[in-house]
Amino acid sequence: MVRKSLDIHCNQVLTNNPRITSVSLTGINNTDIIFSSVYMQWSDRSPEQVIEYEATLGHMQSIVDRHIGCSFLFGGDFNVTRNFKSTCCQALDNFCTANRITWLNSGDDNNSYTYHCDTNSHYSLLDYFLCSPALLSQYGNASILIDGDNPSDHLAISYVFNFSRPPNSSSSRSTTMVKLNWGKGDLDRYRLVLSSHLSDIKIPVCALNCNGDCDGKHCAELQSYFTSLSSCLQQSAECSVPVYKVGVQKHWWTPELDELKHLCIDATAVWKAAG
Ligand SMILES: [Zn+2]
Repeated sequence: MVRKSLDIHCNQVLTNNPRITSVSLTGINNTDIIFSSVYMQWSDRSPEQVIEYEATLGHMQSIVDRHIGCSFLFGGDFNVTRNFKSTCCQALDNFCTANRITWLNSGDDNNSYTYHCDTNSHYSLLDYFLCSPALLSQYGNASILIDGDNPSDHLAISYVFNFSRPPNSSSSRSTTMVKLNWGKGDLDRYRLVLSSHLSDIKIPVCALNCNGDCDGKHCAELQSYFTSLSSCLQQSAECSVPVYKVGVQKHWWTPELDELKHLCIDATAVWKAAG
């Protein structure tokens, strides 16, 4: 879930692991930030659970590897206490060191646990933020929020990170908020217009067959070929496929429902006329 005002700047990131949910946020100082919520499995230090823990770390590593140049923020229940000498804790620490990610401490002398099981008096510090150093603000630790209304056995943690929200650009909003409604498009017309547009494009045969030994002299030609192709697609769609505003369209609405709606309106009119 993301705040509605940020949705045009956010994209879901594939994690391949139900324990990790990630989104990317674009438009901040030309850098993307990848936010990930992580719920690590509880580990009794059995080999099976250590393997599962390390596998989840592998998926976190994959997110980092696929987004070189981005900043990262991982937050959640990591199910280890920092500086506690266990294989899982060590593996998480290694992940941070290898990727130059800072493991932020949570709490202070007064508050030093996030998990509480009051029936057996078990208290431990398991929830943390891990983030790229660029996102760190001047404040030291993440604070632990003690709130009587929180029904969870975990307390929330909070930290003010160093980034501002992306600018609200009206142009990006208008282009992102409108999508082509292919279901209602005139596909025959689209085919016709597209093939006519495409036949006007000159195919850069030499550039397409180039083996790369040309010192980049084909770059401009390929770029122009790409631009022509994409503008052909766009122009053909514009004159044959209607657009709809994202968020307004009801994906479950069908023509049969349109008919039923009109019948209902007519019936209501008859009922009203009859007093
Ligand atoms: Zn070339």
